[in-house]
Amino acid sequence: MGRITLDKVTKSFGEVQVIPPLDLTIEDGEFVVFVGPSGCGKSTLLRLIAGLEDVTSGEIRIDGRNATETPPARRGLAMVFQSYALYPHMSVRKNIAFPLRMAGLEKAEQDRRVVEAAKVLNLTDYLDRRPGQLSGGQRQRVAIGRAIVREPAAFLFDEPLSNLDAALRVGMRLEISELHERLKTTMIYVTHDQVEAMTMADKIVVLRAGNIEQVGSPLDLYHTPRNLFVAGFIGSPK
Ligand code: ADP
Ligand code: MG
Repeated sequence: MGRITLDKVTKSFGEVQVIPPLDLTIEDGEFVVFVGPSGCGKSTLLRLIAGLEDVTSGEIRIDGRNATETPPARRGLAMVFQSYALYPHMSVRKNIAFPLRMAGLEKAEQDRRVVEAAKVLNLTDYLDRRPGQLSGGQRQRVAIGRAIVREPAAFLFDEPLSNLDAALRVGMRLEISELHERLKTTMIYVTHDQVEAMTMADKIVVLRAGNIEQVGSPLDLYHTPRNLFVAGFIGSPK
């Protein structure tokens, strides 16, 4: 399960409305990319879904239930932070198990899930290392592992690759796409990089100043961009 619906959601910081009324449905199992220039509201939108920010008005529903009043830890979603959010003094095993320890899951179940996630992410041989003894890509995988063990209804990624070098970024992009193929869990992925959007998404949401300019598959947006902004951003010939 991982169907997420936004119904007339708005967000203001003080007097400034950064998200005007916005409707959006994300289907269970979809890989959805929010794309748009810096400052257009991508992170804010993701944080509203995660519950890290409160909506100013409107409703967010997760699998049919109104989640607007639900605290982040109980929404069943996992936010993947950039790899530098790891705890340097903890082993990979402890880093991955961290959310489960916080949730008070029993030790045997923690271990089972960590071993499972490590297998999926090819980290089995690295569980006893510290983050400082890993490559950038491995560290990013640990950050993803920490989300996987929670067995979330959806994964939320906020520009997870932006602090990796270009070659590594391409590899990680593929790994995240493969992870989606394997888990079939809803993923919402924020980026300002149109190549990432075009190569990873089932559905792209193009944002400008908090407004949705267009929603569609990569092919839809490429072949029938609704306006010049979308065409320019996606790089289509219109
Ligand atoms: P993006 O992730 O697309 O770069 P953000 O969602 O971070 O954009 O920001 C959207 C707009 O909201 C920007 O104008 C930003 O300055 C503003 N904003 C974001 N967070 C806050 C905040 N906590 N307080 C005030 N303004 C904010
Ligand atoms: Mg952002």
